[in-house]
Amino acid sequence: MKSHARVVVVGGGVVGVSTLYHLARKGVQDCVLLERKELTSGSTWHAAGLLPLFNLSYSVGQLHKYSVALYKTLEAETGLNAGFSQVSNIRLACTPDRMDEYRYYAGIAKTIGVDVRFLTPEQVKEIWPLADMDGVIGAIQHPDDGYIQPADLTQALARGARMRGAEIHRNVTVTAITQKPSGEWLVTTAQGEITCEHVVLATGSFARKTGAMVGLDIPVIPVEHQYLVTEPHPAIQQRKRNGLPEMGVLRESDASYYMREENGGLLLGPYEVGAPCCYLNGPDKDSEYELFQPDLDRLLPYIEAAIKRVPAFAEVGIKQVYNGAIAYTPDGSPIVGPAWGKRNLWLNEGHSFGITAAGGAGWQLAEWIVEGEPSIDMMGVDPRRFGPYAGAGYLKQKTEEAYAKVFSIHFPEEERGAARPLRRTPSYDRLKALGAVFGSVFGWERPGWFAPPGYTVPEAELAIPDVLLNTPHDTPADGSAPRERWSFRRNNAFPFIGAECRHVRDAAGILDMSPFAKYTVSGPGAEDWLNRVFANRMPRKPGGIALCHVLTKRGGVLAEATIFREAEQDFYLVMAGAQERHDWDMLQKLAPRDGSVQLQKVTTQLGVFVLAGPRARDILQPLTDADLSSAAFPWLTGKPISVGHAQATALRVNFVGELGWELHHPIEMGATLFDLLLEAGRKHDLRPFGMKAMDSLRLEKSYRVVGRELSIEYGALESGLDRFVQLKKPAFLGRAALAEAHAAAKNRFVTLEVHGVTDADARGSEPIFYRGELIGRTTSGGYGWRLEKSLALAMLRPDLGEPGTELTVTILAKDFKATVIAESPYDPRNERLKA
Ligand SMILES: Cc1cc2nc3c(=O)[nH]c(=O)nc-3n(C[C@H](O)[C@H](O)[C@H](O)COP(=O)(O)OP(=O)(O)OC[C@H]3O[C@@H](n4cnc5c(N)ncnc54)[C@H](O)[C@@H]3O)c2cc1C
Repeated sequence: MKSHARVVVVGGGVVGVSTLYHLARKGVQDCVLLERKELTSGSTWHAAGLLPLFNLSYSVGQLHKYSVALYKTLEAETGLNAGFSQVSNIRLACTPDRMDEYRYYAGIAKTIGVDVRFLTPEQVKEIWPLADMDGVIGAIQHPDDGYIQPADLTQALARGARMRGAEIHRNVTVTAITQKPSGEWLVTTAQGEITCEHVVLATGSFARKTGAMVGLDIPVIPVEHQYLVTEPHPAIQQRKRNGLPEMGVLRESDASYYMREENGGLLLGPYEVGAPCCYLNGPDKDSEYELFQPDLDRLLPYIEAAIKRVPAFAEVGIKQVYNGAIAYTPDGSPIVGPAWGKRNLWLNEGHSFGITAAGGAGWQLAEWIVEGEPSIDMMGVDPRRFGPYAGAGYLKQKTEEAYAKVFSIHFPEEERGAARPLRRTPSYDRLKALGAVFGSVFGWERPGWFAPPGYTVPEAELAIPDVLLNTPHDTPADGSAPRERWSFRRNNAFPFIGAECRHVRDAAGILDMSPFAKYTVSGPGAEDWLNRVFANRMPRKPGGIALCHVLTKRGGVLAEATIFREAEQDFYLVMAGAQERHDWDMLQKLAPRDGSVQLQKVTTQLGVFVLAGPRARDILQPLTDADLSSAAFPWLTGKPISVGHAQATALRVNFVGELGWELHHPIEMGATLFDLLLEAGRKHDLRPFGMKAMDSLRLEKSYRVVGRELSIEYGALESGLDRFVQLKKPAFLGRAALAEAHAAAKNRFVTLEVHGVTDADARGSEPIFYRGELIGRTTSGGYGWRLEKSLALAMLRPDLGEPGTELTVTILAKDFKATVIAESPYDPRNERLKA
């Protein structure tokens, strides 16, 4: 074993080996993989090998697509057959909501370039004659999909890596990982030490144990998963003899299982409610090719559902049951990317569909390591999307929930109930009493919308088809009746959200935005450093506010901040709550180490209320001595003020496009301040509003959001951030790429009015066509209540971005006419904001 390498990958499952393969493909020959036992002896060997392309995430979808395409080429490249059976994959729908989910997905798939077809029950029956079509209303099929032999796939990737000079050492356990003062890593094993520049952890069920070696609490806990294989069935054997093709992978999503042929018999894998976490303290040191005792009782309802669908399943004996560990994260997506707080330490952990994701995850991680950034927006799988709140107790509940919900309908507004409430702001109980229907972000409870007193989902909306997996509504933690019936279409909350929007336009609303991430940057070097990190220029005078973005090397957008200059050397940054760990890690890694700049995270020290609407000044003025007139307190400025006997830093900005202030206050004064504002607001009819109203209001202002219109996949100028990018500044991150990127722009940000929508607005990721040709995708969408128009924000071919251009948007498999309209269709001159 060599003593020095550029990269050491820890873990020889499919994920680690794919990472090694892709590093070698990127030209990093000097890389080494260490596996404590044999390759694949963790979770990989016992996987069912399915490669589902289906995924509602634009980024994970791209990773899966890449994997499937790569795996087909491995034999030609390495000479090893990975056992790819392209038998196609059918997903059944037994409820209208499920059909909507497929329709929505089909739009995403179109934008990614994944082939999806709709099938009638009769067409499914032709392909799967052993299946009964009772209750099936439709289906989708992925013709490119199928299954693979996981161990053979891993060996093919391993050979591909070795062919390019990478080394693999088996039976070598990594016992310690430490960073030297030089920044290099020292990887210790019983067989010696390796000094290296980068370390990648791909240790499956061992993730928390390996994380502990480097002081990281990695948010991964495995869950038990079982599948059953039957004896051969005569009908399947007969099909084989007749030369008929395999029937393909069948998924009955509404009954939460997959089924496929296996050696003339059938393989059934349910995702059941009640599957327990396992390896809470990590697997044993001798664990190898480990399986748990089967527990068929737990599977019974799913087996019964499978038998109802495919009676042949009951006609043959069960040959074998596999019960093995699958790593899970709280949201079910893997964690792929840099470790927080450590340089050159990378995580490729938490894979629950690791056979499917390994190719794409290895590809993007290798790009990240070698080129400094990935080319696909990886926010949905970034390890930093969870925070320190995700401790072991939280993880146990969330990973079991994520497992049980693998097949649940992923409604756009779905809010999962486990481990909630966790982080509450001081106004939580007050908001709850006012009818808040909460959502959760980064562990915080945030009001989504407000239901009237005693309101529950109307009976008619709750008529739920009789399928095994069906909870299309919120389940309040206190056991009260559901208040929101989730849907891909406008739902029961729609009119209430509309009333909130109109109230903010006509009177005033208050929104608790305390989960915003907040940081202070100070010191003699603060202004210079911020000007080098962000594309916009820092406000020149204390009291000024600027909207600023951090760009990638290629000119894409990584993060957004509202920056308030508190004093000559003191800046206050307000950034996305969900990205707190990501942005904090990014800022810390970029900060100079010469003591000229001090960074502090103050998220939990400060709460934020948004007070917005034409009566905002009338409400706030009597509570403060500060002059709130526009002359004394113009738009885009801020200052500390007293509010009654409480205090706040008032920033004259908001994300809704009305007169208003954000009141950043000591969090311990939150309840007092809320009461003061509500009391003062009584005669002005101040009412609370939620995040969903805010989302509608920001659409009408064409305000962009990171992860949607702003992404590393789109150049900042493509996203229309011209006025926030100061190309005249001498240097800032991504500047060099911008001029080049602009000339070669492939996309342009636009606002669309969508015509003829009656029940399903765009939501983001719908495909956009011009004369039948795919020319872009929506990034957000919804109903604009102030304009009374269905709207969408979109990225599309630059020559088609002129106002007036007529396009077609496909929403839930139906085409709608859409027109490009001028940006900020509501109050384009910002007169209301500046009033
Ligand atoms: C029953 C079952 C069916 C499944 N079916 C599918 C499916 O159909 N499709 C799909 O996509 N996924 C499926 N999965 C999930 C899939 O198996 C995993 O997502 C995948 O194998 C994860 O691969 P990995 O490389 O991350 O982890 P692993 O395969 O567990 O590899 C991690 C490796 O790291 C090594 N390691 C740990 N610590 C150290 C150390 N300190 N030093 C050296 N080495 C170390 C371990 O020995 C292990 O070999 C299934 C899982 C189960 C349990």
